[in-house]
Order: sequence, then C-alpha cells, then structure tokens
Amino acid sequence: MNRRRGCFSGQITHDWLARQVKLNKERLIDRLARNLVDEGDCRVWVPTGSGTKKGYGRISAKRDLKLYIHHVFWTLTNCRPIPAGMEIDHTCENRRCIKHLQLIDPDTNLAIRNGKATRT
Ligand SMILES: [Zn+2]
Repeated sequence: MNRRRGCFSGQITHDWLARQVKLNKERLIDRLARNLVDEGDCRVWVPTGSGTKKGYGRISAKRDLKLYIHHVFWTLTNCRPIPAGMEIDHTCENRRCIKHLQLIDPDTNLAIRNGKATRT
C-alpha cells in the first residue's frame, strides 16, 4: 500500500469512519457542520487549530487519530470507506473544500499536481 502521505493510519481510519457512518451519521454531520461556511461555490472548513501546514483541515477523531476533513466528508457523502490505496482529490483546488471531491488513484493525483495530467 502507498504510504507516501504519512499521517494516515489507513485501516483504523477507515474502520472508524465506517462505524461512524453506520451508527451516528446525522450526529457526526451536525457536529462537523458547525465549522463549515460557504465560500463562493465551495463549502469550506473553518480551521480550528488542527489544520496542516499544507492547508488541509483536520479533526481529532479520537485519541492519537486525526482525520482529514475532506476524507471524512467523502466517506459520509458516499457512505463507504475510501478504498485502500486511493486518494481524495479537490477538483476545485481549494484544500479546505468538502464539496468538490473525487476519488482518485495516487499516480493520477500526483500527475495532476505536477501539471502532467488534467482532471476529467
Ligand atoms: Zn470546492
């Protein structure tokens, strides 16, 4: 599995998210929604001090486990865990956005970031 991005403990994260979606999706969304604002066509996460240097929003899910906001929302929206080895791409290029997300493989994601491919 590709671990290039560090920070993510894939299996724990996916399990936790899958459980949250099953047990209390509404409550989780309510909690998260308090930190969301509209920004143009995007819906963005207002940082609460746990953002990353690269500008991605993060939350503490439980002890020693921090999740990227866009990963949480992709999972909630699609009602399934992010498939192993896949990444979530911001099609609007706003890293705090939770609305314009697509599932993407790491090679394509990297190629887009390096300007060697375009989004479909
Ligand atoms: Zn957006």
